[in-house]
Amino acid sequence: MKLLEEKILAEGIAESDSILKVDSFINHQIDPALMKQLGEEIAAHFTGKGITRVATIESSGIAPALMTAAALGVPLVILKKQPSKILNQDLYQTVVTSYTKGVSYELTVSSHFMNENDHVLIVDDFLANGEAATGAIRLIRKSHATIAGMAVLIEKTFQPGREKLTEQGIDVFALARIAKLEPGMIQFVEENICQN
Ligand code: 5GP
Repeated sequence: MKLLEEKILAEGIAESDSILKVDSFINHQIDPALMKQLGEEIAAHFTGKGITRVATIESSGIAPALMTAAALGVPLVILKKQPSKILNQDLYQTVVTSYTKGVSYELTVSSHFMNENDHVLIVDDFLANGEAATGAIRLIRKSHATIAGMAVLIEKTFQPGREKLTEQGIDVFALARIAKLEPGMIQFVEENICQN
């Protein structure tokens, strides 16, 4: 999406060849007007697909997921990162191991907010290695809901996230697709290049 690409070129910082910082409008400070437009764009792509709920993993996906849910007119469910000690028969849980970050966490959702009647769109800020998304998919499937797709603001196409998700039959939609990062350089799949 052109609008997001322009914002990334103007304010994004390629910290290394794998990490893009977007703290000024997504991850630390949020640009609400931009986020509303991005949510509407995601909703337009998935409209008519019978989505009953939007889901995201706390916390950086909440802003785009909320705007998407608002545009689709459905609730947003936050898949919570909780310690596994909380045992409750109304909860579905799965362990997510982030090899990238070297941490494991328990992802949890209540059967009150996700069940066999749901067709769920997952929304997140980034798609990188697809570890978080794979955990979210596993959890949603545990709840017997079906998955309409995965939407992200920014996909790093040089990492294997999309491949992992499409292998599982998931429809992946990204508003901005980054082909290459280097400190000071951001290259989109569409070949836009920025020196900063
Ligand atoms: P995964 O590797 O599981 O696809 O990415 C998990 C999460 O790490 C994303 O949802 C996002 O919050 C964070 N992440 C991954 N790559 C980046 C990046 O380049 N920049 C920022 N700001 N966050 C990232």
